[in-house]
Amino acid sequence: MRFDILTLFPEMFTGVLGNSILKKAAEKQLVSYNIVDFRDFSEDKHQRVDDYPYGGGGGMVLTPQPIFDALDHVTKNVGTNNRKVILLCPQGERYTQKKAEELAQCEQLIFICGHYEGYDERIREHLVTDEISIGDYVLTGGELGAMVIIDSVSRLLPGVLGNETSAVTDSFSSGLLEYPHYTRPVDFRGFKVPDVLTSGHHKNIEEWRHKEALKRTLTRRPDLIKVRELSDKEKLWLQSIEIED
Ligand code: SAM
Repeated sequence: MRFDILTLFPEMFTGVLGNSILKKAAEKQLVSYNIVDFRDFSEDKHQRVDDYPYGGGGGMVLTPQPIFDALDHVTKNVGTNNRKVILLCPQGERYTQKKAEELAQCEQLIFICGHYEGYDERIREHLVTDEISIGDYVLTGGELGAMVIIDSVSRLLPGVLGNETSAVTDSFSSGLLEYPHYTRPVDFRGFKVPDVLTSGHHKNIEEWRHKEALKRTLTRRPDLIKVRELSDKEKLWLQSIEIED
């Protein structure tokens, strides 16, 4: 997977991409990061990348030329068409784990990080395949959004996480929030680990986890339960959870 990031603030990425699992993924050559300052592509004599909006009003708008040229640069001589050009934007589709799974199938993801008031509409219309918002709030720029997407997509790629099963049981991957975890000691200040987890009975442990995931999702994210196709077993468990509570 190749990630190309078009930004005005390249230094923002060094901490996030240069540490922990994202750093290791690059060292193992499972991913590569190409951070491009699109100001370098500006044909303006002062290297400006923004201008006043036609029609008046406050705020500056990113001009099309530097971003179009930077995009040409990062797609030229790249041996794949399996790519997405992602515009970070509060007006975009709200980001989910399902979208991360879809993006993880690509070979190249290109991010356009906005700033100021926003983009010239022609960037949106003619360059972009996907507009993504990371939530219903407004950030100062698209960089944090790009980092969120890179992180969540990278951990889905084969070999990036040490334990291949951990992404599969994560919250949202199965449509449910993840079950609770416990580790040593069995008794910490009188707070005990549920007996089933130390029983060694794998079937019971699996069932307990499934039920706890259902319970947790019901109490924290009932919207996910509403859209889930429940199995017969889950329907019964839900009834008993509702009676218990
Ligand atoms: N005027 C724009 C609007 O109301 O839609 C907001 C512009 S915002 C101050 C500047 C940039 O931050 C955006 O162009 C986008 O790249 C990024 N941004 C802000 N909020 C975001 C969000 N929720 N998700 C993804 N990117 C966001």
